[in-house]
Amino acid sequence: MRVLVLNSGSSSLKFKLFNLTTNSCFCSGLIEKIAEVQSLISFSIHQEKKIDKKLFIKNHHDTLEVIFDILFDSGVIVSLDELSAVGHRVVHGGEYYTKASIVDEVMIQRLKSLIPLAPLHNPANILGIEALMKKAPHLKQVAVFDTAFHQSMPSKAYMYALPIDLYKKDKIRRYGFHGSSHAYVLKQTAKFLNQNSDEMNIISLHLGNGASVCAIKEGLSVDTSMGFTPLEGLVMGTRSGDIDSAIIFYLYKEKAYTLEEIDILLNQKSGLLGVCGENDMRLILDKKDKDKSFQLAVDIFVYRIKKYIGAYFAILGRVDALVFTAGIGEHSSKIREMICNDLEVFGIKTDAEKNNSKQEKEFSFHHTNSRVPLLVIKTDEELEIALQTKELLL
Ligand code: ADP
Repeated sequence: MRVLVLNSGSSSLKFKLFNLTTNSCFCSGLIEKIAEVQSLISFSIHQEKKIDKKLFIKNHHDTLEVIFDILFDSGVIVSLDELSAVGHRVVHGGEYYTKASIVDEVMIQRLKSLIPLAPLHNPANILGIEALMKKAPHLKQVAVFDTAFHQSMPSKAYMYALPIDLYKKDKIRRYGFHGSSHAYVLKQTAKFLNQNSDEMNIISLHLGNGASVCAIKEGLSVDTSMGFTPLEGLVMGTRSGDIDSAIIFYLYKEKAYTLEEIDILLNQKSGLLGVCGENDMRLILDKKDKDKSFQLAVDIFVYRIKKYIGAYFAILGRVDALVFTAGIGEHSSKIREMICNDLEVFGIKTDAEKNNSKQEKEFSFHHTNSRVPLLVIKTDEELEIALQTKELLL
C-alpha cells in the first residue's frame, strides 16, 4: 500500500511517499517559496538527494503538478492509481475531529470555520486539499489533525477558568498540538518496552523549535502544555510559552505596543531567541559557558520542562516512561541530562554513558536503579499521518 503525505504551509509544501508494507519512505521533498520570484524544489529518492532547483511556481495547484511530475519522471509511480490515498497534515480540527477522517465537503466547510483559530495554518492546509481535489478527484484524501490526539483531555484540563460563554460561544479552550508526534511516540515507546500502548502512562517531551509535553494515561492524552494556540506552555525557539497574560495589557496600555506588535513579540521574538538572541540550541549550548545570557536561556528552558514533568507526575501517579523526541530531545544529551538531573524523587536516574552514546533510532538511557525508563524516540510525524491514513482505509 502506498500513501502520499502532504504537509501544506502557506508558502511551502512538504511531501513524503510511503510504502506501508515496509513502513519505508521512498521519496520525499520540499517545495518552498511558492508564489515568490523563485520557488525552491528539493527532493530525494531512497534518502539519496536527487535535485535542488529553482523555478517560479505560482500557487499550490501548480506545486502539486510539480510534485506529481517528480513522482512520475523519477519512475517512483507510473500512475495515480498506485496511490491508495493521500494523507494531509491539518493543524486544527477543533472539537469536530477526535481522529483522522476522510476529506469531504462538510470537512472543508468545518476547516474553513476553524480558520480564526489557526489563521496561519488551516488556510494553507485547505489549499493543499482543494488543489488535490481538482487534480485527482477520485483519489481518497484523509485529514490527520494535530489537535485530534488531545481531544481525549478531560474538561478540567482543557477548560480555562474564564466566563463559560467564551467556551460555549467562541470555543475558547485548550486544544493542544503536536498530536501526531505524541501519538507516534506512544506507539514506538510501547513497542520498545514490549507493552500495550493502551495500558501505558507516559510523559512525552517533544522538544524542537516548537516544544510541547503531553501526559498520556492508558494510551490517551489527558493533558498537554500547548493550549488554545501553540503559544502556551514550554519555552520554545521563538515563542514565550506560559506568561502572565497581564503583561499584554501592560505593554499595550503603558508601553504603547500595538496588538500586532505584541503578537509578533510573543510568537517570533521571545523564547530562547528573546532571552539570548539565538534560537538554535546547538549554538546556545556552545556559547553558554562564555556568556550568561545563553546560560540563562538554557536554564529557563530546562526549568520550565521540569515544572511540567512534576505536574504530570502528579496527574498520572504512575509513569511507565519519560520519552524525549524532536531535534533537541533526540540529539542533545546535555539538555536531557539537565532535565533529568535531581529528579530522583520521581524515580528518575540517568546513565551518563548510555545518554551520551550516539544512536540513530530508539534507545534508553536510564540507570539500572531508575524506576522510570528514560527513552529517546525519533519522531516521524509524516509516517504517523501515513499510518493513520492506512488505518482508516482498512
Ligand atoms: P522543528 O521541527 O520544530 O522546526 P526540530 O525538531 O527540527 O524543530 O528541532 C530543532 C531544534 O533542535 C533546534 O533548536 C536545533 O538547534 C536543535 N538541535 C538539533 N540537533 C541538535 C543537537 N545535536 N544538539 C542540540 N540541539 C539540537
